[in-house]
Amino acid sequence: MPIALVTGASRGIGRGIAVSLGGLGWKIAVNYAGNQAAADECVALVRAAGGDAMPIQGDISLAADRDRLIKATVAWGGRLDLLVNNAGIAPTVRADLLEAGEESFDRLIAVNLKGPFFLTQLAARQMTAQAPDASGSRGQVVIVSSISAYTASTNRGDYCVAKAGLGMVTKLFAARLADSGIRVYEIRPGVIATDMTGTVKAKYDALIADGLTPIRRWGLPEDIGRAVAAVARGDLPFSTGEVLNVDGGFHLHTL
Ligand code: NAP
Repeated sequence: MPIALVTGASRGIGRGIAVSLGGLGWKIAVNYAGNQAAADECVALVRAAGGDAMPIQGDISLAADRDRLIKATVAWGGRLDLLVNNAGIAPTVRADLLEAGEESFDRLIAVNLKGPFFLTQLAARQMTAQAPDASGSRGQVVIVSSISAYTASTNRGDYCVAKAGLGMVTKLFAARLADSGIRVYEIRPGVIATDMTGTVKAKYDALIADGLTPIRRWGLPEDIGRAVAAVARGDLPFSTGEVLNVDGGFHLHTL
């Protein structure tokens, strides 16, 4: 059974990814920060979908936790076929750019940018030491960024800066790891129905009804899960450093 570590898999998009991979018969290390009950629910859903799963607590902003996450995953599965850097947080308070404080900035960068950067570094070390499979692949990495990687929201600049940084993290590791048979992809979700967007539901309901996205609906965690499943199946063998927009067409410029 191939094995993936999915960060922030207890809820929302990460859960959707874990369940989609479970449907492919994968083993999933279901990482979470503090919500063990939600992680246990996700484990049950992955198993019901046909895969296997184990919950594993860890804060991706902490070096010791990142190290433990990779070691525990490899101890369980014997290798690491896919790392999905999904865990992320929104600012606690949306503050205008002229008022935004350093505390929120430091936390957003630590969780949303530093965590994925150094977790990918650890995964890359593990994958480069692994034997390649029949297709020559030693493993793959997915980085979940956001439409905020290129869309300026002046009331959450820290989030946008962190997500823009992930675009370069994708490019850097894709370029560095191609010769080792490791491909790296960035997925940019649009507006997805999860706890993170629960507080702004009415606002986005109205925007979507008014045509914010050519495909007029909320995205679902399983929309992202299906994109990650395509990567996991190896369906993009001649692409790396690629951006997959899973956003209902939000990124299109229309006139
Ligand atoms: P969510 O519903 O708030 O879930 C967040 C997940 O991340 C939970 O599993 C949480 O674990 C985990 N987490 C939070 N901090 C963590 C940490 N320091 N270490 C490890 N895990 C941590 O969020 P979501 O909407 O699914 O978002 C998932 C990713 O997609 C994020 O990177 C987000 O920026 C991105 N995204 C979301 C949207 C959207 O519209 N929802 C759009 C674009 C991009 P616990 O359950 O233990 O708290």
